[in-house]
Amino acid sequence: MNILSKIDLYLENREHERSENHYPSEASKCLRSIWYSRKKVPKSNPMDASAIWKTEMGNAIHDRVAKFLAEMGINARDEIPFKKNIEGLKFPVSGRIDNVFNEIGEDVGIEIKTTFGRGVVDIQKERKPKWDAILQVALYLYLTDLNKFYLIYIGRDNGYRCQFEFTMKKDSIFMDGKKLDITLDDIVEKFKRVEKAIDSNEIPEREYKIAIKNGQIRPDGFSKNKVKYKGNWQCSYCGYRDHCWRSELEKYENSDNSDELKWGVKMSKEDKLNFDLLPESASLLELIDKVNAILLWKREEDIASLEAWQEAFKEAERIKEGVDIYEEWSNFQVCYKA
Ligand code: SF4
Repeated sequence: MNILSKIDLYLENREHERSENHYPSEASKCLRSIWYSRKKVPKSNPMDASAIWKTEMGNAIHDRVAKFLAEMGINARDEIPFKKNIEGLKFPVSGRIDNVFNEIGEDVGIEIKTTFGRGVVDIQKERKPKWDAILQVALYLYLTDLNKFYLIYIGRDNGYRCQFEFTMKKDSIFMDGKKLDITLDDIVEKFKRVEKAIDSNEIPEREYKIAIKNGQIRPDGFSKNKVKYKGNWQCSYCGYRDHCWRSELEKYENSDNSDELKWGVKMSKEDKLNFDLLPESASLLELIDKVNAILLWKREEDIASLEAWQEAFKEAERIKEGVDIYEEWSNFQVCYKA
């Protein structure tokens, strides 16, 4: 018997029950992908056995952390379920907290994230958590009795480890002492949109963009006339991507969607936070990316372009004093002189 093939087959065909409840991990997820999942649309790009094994390795690390805490004599409780009804939502928000332990008389939560490859390199380089993890922990703080959380990252391939401390004071969330621009209403609003979309039966708009060339999705983007066009990473990992983008794949069978990617992506709260947390050591290119994202955001918000320019410009100067940054009015891009 090829036992490994049998396990792979089992993993690939395992059924996952899901309730109508809202999950904290969905707070930052694409509305359209949640819609597909709730409507039980079969995935066009399901995870293969290798991807599932990688996910399971992450789960195994959760178990090890719980074991180490117990060995150290820290009396932590694991996998603590919670469920909370929120006014204005038909279904409750439910989830499981990885660990809760007592720290100097106060119950404190732990959320463990494991990652690898580019994921861990980004965390290492930027020294900040991913937006989905931030929202998840914020939601735990809002919906449980806990006022403090440690968000821990562990690199599955390189053993890198780091932690971020989250606290809640008077309904405000702080990360390592810095106040975050997050409110419970913002998150609940997303869940309301989920319920509305499901009820109305209308498929929501796509929240992200993806690079398409010659009828194919290009997860790494493509270059045209020396300009790099790239989509959002979320679509590259989405189990519904071929299904979601089918009409566009046909439309761009012999061309590309560079025009649609021209302005990059709409600046979300996540982008804004990334910008705010951009370290002093950020490269010029990173800075320019962020400034251009702000410009786009302003355009989307329909604020006068000149005003947007001035604001983005001020941000650039604030972060990189002395850099010769100039604006290219014709295409709303911030450029710099090398
Ligand atoms: S492919 Fe992208 S836009 Fe479509 S459902 Fe997935 S994440 Fe959303």
